[in-house]
Amino acid sequence: MNNEQELPTSTDVLVVGAGPAGMTLAVSLKQLGVDCVVIDQLPSPPDDTRAAFVQPRTLEYVRRLQLAGPMIDDGLKGRGFTMADREHDLVRVPYDTVDSPYPFLLIIGQWQTQRHLDRRFGELGGSVLRGVRLLNLQPEFPGSAATVVDSDGALRVINARFVAGCDGVWSRVRNQLGIGFPGSSPEQMFAVADVKLPGWPSDRVEPAFTLSPHGMLIGSPLPGDDMARVVASVRPGTPAPTQHDVNDLIQTRGPSWMRNRKVEEVLSSATWHVHERVATQFQHDNTFLLGDAAHTHSPAGGQGMNTGIQDAANLAWKLHHVLSLGAPVSLLDTYDAERRPNAQKLIEFTHQITMVATITGHKERQLRDGILAAISDVPGVTEALSLRFSQIAIGYGDSNEPFAPGTRVNPDTIDADDLAWTLLTPGAAPPDLPPAFNVTVSNDVSHPVAVRPDGVVASAELVHELFGFNLARVAVASNEVHPPTDLVSQQLVTHAAPAQHGGAR
Ligand SMILES: Cc1cc2nc3c(=O)[nH]c(=O)nc-3n(C[C@H](O)[C@H](O)[C@H](O)COP(=O)(O)OP(=O)(O)OC[C@H]3O[C@@H](n4cnc5c(N)ncnc54)[C@H](O)[C@@H]3O)c2cc1C
Repeated sequence: MNNEQELPTSTDVLVVGAGPAGMTLAVSLKQLGVDCVVIDQLPSPPDDTRAAFVQPRTLEYVRRLQLAGPMIDDGLKGRGFTMADREHDLVRVPYDTVDSPYPFLLIIGQWQTQRHLDRRFGELGGSVLRGVRLLNLQPEFPGSAATVVDSDGALRVINARFVAGCDGVWSRVRNQLGIGFPGSSPEQMFAVADVKLPGWPSDRVEPAFTLSPHGMLIGSPLPGDDMARVVASVRPGTPAPTQHDVNDLIQTRGPSWMRNRKVEEVLSSATWHVHERVATQFQHDNTFLLGDAAHTHSPAGGQGMNTGIQDAANLAWKLHHVLSLGAPVSLLDTYDAERRPNAQKLIEFTHQITMVATITGHKERQLRDGILAAISDVPGVTEALSLRFSQIAIGYGDSNEPFAPGTRVNPDTIDADDLAWTLLTPGAAPPDLPPAFNVTVSNDVSHPVAVRPDGVVASAELVHELFGFNLARVAVASNEVHPPTDLVSQQLVTHAAPAQHGGAR
């Protein structure tokens, strides 16, 4: 443990695990002025690359934490990704059509992302208690008593009003609560190596999935001189690849433009098994599961870390409202209602990608490659894929209409640079608008829209519940200037109707 720091005996939020999910939650809470304590069993932050791809939706959130700029400075702006056979590109999914201030795939090592989160936490006055392991959780009104062990072997108790289990796939928190983690652990194994591979073409700054008869190979440049990431599907039991193995994988599976290049050094390498599992609940009373503790799946598609960061974005402002602004505790139920269905869909999606990428059988592969090559000519298909992979399309409502409750708003539309709420309105701000709101006047909307601190449109009902502010009335007032739309009448109806559990708030 960092013995310079006393272990606190109580906190509002105990964050277990200082990975990307836990640190995003911790930074958000600190920025919102919520008391939190972060523990991690490791004595120091990990330095492995793991999640090398940060999606646009993640950048949109970390911009609110003042982290998007510094992370972009440290990374590479990937153009999207390609799928290829050994000789030709089959389909290219470009990100430049994504309607975001960040229309690119940021390529940056997970260790760098974590350093940025740690640094920001420090700037906000926080410090992670490292070498501190959660042993067990006991209910202790009005929260939990967490027994932890520090690196000196001493047992301590931290009383926490809320607990966030951000402690990875083998989550102790999940285990303590007895929450199931059903799913499967397919026989699939992947090898990953971060290597020196000089000569990466400057017009191919993006991950390339090569679908060869010998198996899948993903190659991507990484930030740093001549650095690259190589990932390959391998047989169960295969050891971590050596320099010779990586060169062999590139020769037998790589695309033609990669095959005339040689790996000069392997900086790190490992193998891992894919698990495809979603926790049966993301919440149990005052305790929540986030990130890999809640869902785990194939890393194909670069979604895992990004999804954990979005879990934290969803929960942080809700905890703030309950702890600091007097919101009903029931607000926290919407975390599971919004994030668990999203995780379930994600697992199906990444499963499909992995199945497509690892198809065996000559005829089946030929058919797949033909379909992939054909879809790139169908208008709208690659754009739809980039929306899906970039996580921009993720929402919690029943409607995908722009500015409908549950849809995501482009942060540039609302100048979102912090964790405030925004009222996006075509006219002047109403005089009784709660101070929690920033105001953006824009003709993009025909009626006022409230945007949550995670960038998602709130229903009029939620705004009323949290602020006592009648958005529907403001909408009606603004319609005296702007003609009514279906959406406004929808909001009025929503306001009058009781909350639907599981719907967008
Ligand atoms: C090879 C590889 C490549 C990947 N590529 C991508 C990618 O490109 N994009 C992407 O989005 N995802 C990717 N992922 C997945 C991504 O790495 C994970 O989804 C991400 O690390 C999960 O973050 P987390 O914060 O939920 O958990 P973790 O990063 O696992 O962090 C959990 C933390 O909890 C701590 N902890 C555990 N138990 C305890 C305890 N009892 N007490 C205290 N602390 C505890 C651990 O020490 C750890 O620091 C990849 C994964 C792998 C293996």
